[in-house]
Amino acid sequence: MAKITLSNLRHSYMPNPAGAEDYALKQIDLDWDDGGAYALLGPSGCGKSTLLNIISGLLVPSEGRILFDDRDVTDLPPDQRNIAQVFQFPVIYDTMTVYDNLAFPLRNRGVAADKIEARVSEIAEMLEVTGMLQTRASGLSPDNKQKISMGRGLVRDDVNVVMFDEPLTVIDPHLKWKLRSKLKELHQRVRATMIYVTHDQTEALTFADQVVVMQDGEIVQIGTPVELFERPAHTFVGHFIGSPGMNVLPCEVRDGGAYFNGTHIALEGAIGQGATGKTEIGIRPEYVSLSDAGLPATVRKVSDIGRHNIVEAMVADRKIAAIVEGDAPQAGAEVHLQFQPDQTRLYNNDWLASERQGIAS
Ligand code: ADP
Ligand code: MG
Repeated sequence: MAKITLSNLRHSYMPNPAGAEDYALKQIDLDWDDGGAYALLGPSGCGKSTLLNIISGLLVPSEGRILFDDRDVTDLPPDQRNIAQVFQFPVIYDTMTVYDNLAFPLRNRGVAADKIEARVSEIAEMLEVTGMLQTRASGLSPDNKQKISMGRGLVRDDVNVVMFDEPLTVIDPHLKWKLRSKLKELHQRVRATMIYVTHDQTEALTFADQVVVMQDGEIVQIGTPVELFERPAHTFVGHFIGSPGMNVLPCEVRDGGAYFNGTHIALEGAIGQGATGKTEIGIRPEYVSLSDAGLPATVRKVSDIGRHNIVEAMVADRKIAAIVEGDAPQAGAEVHLQFQPDQTRLYNNDWLASERQGIAS
């Protein structure tokens, strides 16, 4: 296990990159603590796999350094970095049994037979594949193949980090939730540093203690699932996390207050210095309620999603979503929307610009 430091990383797949748009990774500075459960979350193409492949050594970055416990490994090949990587698609030996597949990384490193036996049994039990140990891997379902692939990543106890790159892609939807919680449990048992890459917010938020959100080759926020939900540092995080995502509404800032469509909107606290350029209000649907007073709006659509309703209402040409418990109005109804002030944030050029009441920052 090790602490991993990424310092001033940039990567372009082009031989002569010119502008920022030529870089798959624009600028990454990051510390992953020893033993942590991390997720790297972002939409397809934002640079997640590029970053993982740089950490594992499959790719050499155009600029910057990678340190394991302060030792520079930037120029070391993958096999000298002591990393286990699990890919989107199973990487196993079809002709071998499940047992031999799991034992392979250990035999390869000359681990004693009795230790291999113990470790393989332990991992097989965690993944619930004990009954298949003597089966030839070629006969397994894609789900089970991927489980074995994960097991191969987890079987060594001497690795610096175990990295998973969208490992549930091939898994059947009904099995996904099961493996998702399994991985969390595995982290708690093996205590290795784990980095879990995904574009799926549910997977990231279930697995990780700390989530790194990426957009377009850059990190926009690092936080706990609660922090990302409660105080998105950037409107992208607001949109990307949550279902539906945060309402982001254009606003005008004057006399120290924020105005949406001419109406004053109470914010969580003072507006940070120098709010110039694009200003927007961010409020999650969970904190928008229908009441007798507030912003006049017209209901456009109501979706019953079981425990609650999602009400989509229009204020002028802006759509605002509210999550409503109990009775919901009909489409076409005239309503008033209220924003819970301590959850109402100001964004300036997409970055959080309001300050929490009573907390100086
Ligand atoms: P993610 O894993 O988040 O989907 P990637 O790291 O695979 O993103 O890709 C980041 C960007 O780099 C994308 O624009 C992608 O098209 C580009 N890219 C990825 N791999 C290569 C490659 N081998 N050669 C050229 N461009 C690549
Ligand atoms: Mg990828």
